[in-house]
Amino acid sequence: MPINIEEIRSQFPVLHQEVNGKPLVYFDNAATTQKPFSVMQAINGYYELDNSNIHRGAHTLADRATRYFENTRTAVKNFINAKEDAEIIFTKGTTESINLVAATFGRMEIGKGDEIIISTMEHHSNIVPWQMLSKEKGAILKIIPISEAGEIDIENFKKLLTEKTKLVSIVHVSNALGTINPVEEIIKLAHEVGAKVLLDGAQSTNHLEVDVQKLDCDFLAFSAHKLYGPTGLGVLYGKREILENMPPYQGGGEMIKEVSFEKTTYNDIPFKFEAGTPNIADVIAFGKAIEFIEELGKKAIKQHEDELLNYATKALNDIKGFIPVGTSKEKVSVISFNINGMHPFDVGMMLDANGIAVRTGHHCTQPLMQRLGLEGTVRASFSVYNTKSEIDQMVTSVAKIAKIKN
Ligand code: PLP
Repeated sequence: MPINIEEIRSQFPVLHQEVNGKPLVYFDNAATTQKPFSVMQAINGYYELDNSNIHRGAHTLADRATRYFENTRTAVKNFINAKEDAEIIFTKGTTESINLVAATFGRMEIGKGDEIIISTMEHHSNIVPWQMLSKEKGAILKIIPISEAGEIDIENFKKLLTEKTKLVSIVHVSNALGTINPVEEIIKLAHEVGAKVLLDGAQSTNHLEVDVQKLDCDFLAFSAHKLYGPTGLGVLYGKREILENMPPYQGGGEMIKEVSFEKTTYNDIPFKFEAGTPNIADVIAFGKAIEFIEELGKKAIKQHEDELLNYATKALNDIKGFIPVGTSKEKVSVISFNINGMHPFDVGMMLDANGIAVRTGHHCTQPLMQRLGLEGTVRASFSVYNTKSEIDQMVTSVAKIAKIKN
């Protein structure tokens, strides 16, 4: 069923405002999505009625909060089709999820001379933790090159794989270019040499159906705030047998079974990796964000976003001086571009003066920008609540801006 855009927009209060005297056009969704009423109400509702620490509480509020919290874990499990709730670990976000894997699996499994493979188009959060680990362990970090269009060449990837490859950590969808990487094939090839695969799903879980069992990835990291949920909350999915063998990440309450000064025994997964009081309100609210997505259906969302992408791409390509960056045919609703003769930041400021919110700069992908020979780009990213008339507004503004130098 096609989506009812007005009904969807009515759920997002933030969209109904003027910025610099113009109706807000929010095209910075790859940085973070807006939140529907249901998510905000869930946060308030928890603090108004249910506020209590979870697990082990002997009273009604604690029991209620625990149930709501664990319901979200089940919702996340279903959302990515994990086998069981225990494979879902709550973290602060994609960044922490990747750091968790580096600090536990990485420290345990990766040694001197072992190899980790990432790609040229990684977000800094999927580069720096592996650099830190490689430095500590004497491991080798290998980089998959990309084409001018912003695509991974599988033949190049094959050449990097060896029996020393312990981990391939790869972005599913590029935040800077929108490219959808051929992760099924990457996972299959990596498994053939015995390597594990971590998918950075920060930009895929919001646009694509991500089925961890079908993909057969070993880890998946993503953030709630890119899925209409709260900031500072994320998920690490891991296969049970791998998580069970990993040492804990942080020590403290929740992650233990028994503590004495002589010996501590750790809790079962997922609690082994969730030390301390978690972000209870936001986890509960994240459940509402997943509900929002599932009620609309991923297929309908993708169809709407693809329509916006095609419509905008066609119109922008007609503008003299418009330079698209990342032209893969396999991409989500992200358009990265530059205007001939202009700095991306200046373009962003001029769009903001017209009420249009885009992101400019390196998008936390400096090595990618270096590969493309760019200082940065302007990035417009569309979400389910965006409309063709908003794109018309942007196209008109971009055309006017481009005319200054072209
Ligand atoms: N990976 C990708 C591809 C991203 O787009 C982002 C956020 O922009 C991250 C990782 C980091 O996510 P977070 O800042 O929520 O930890």
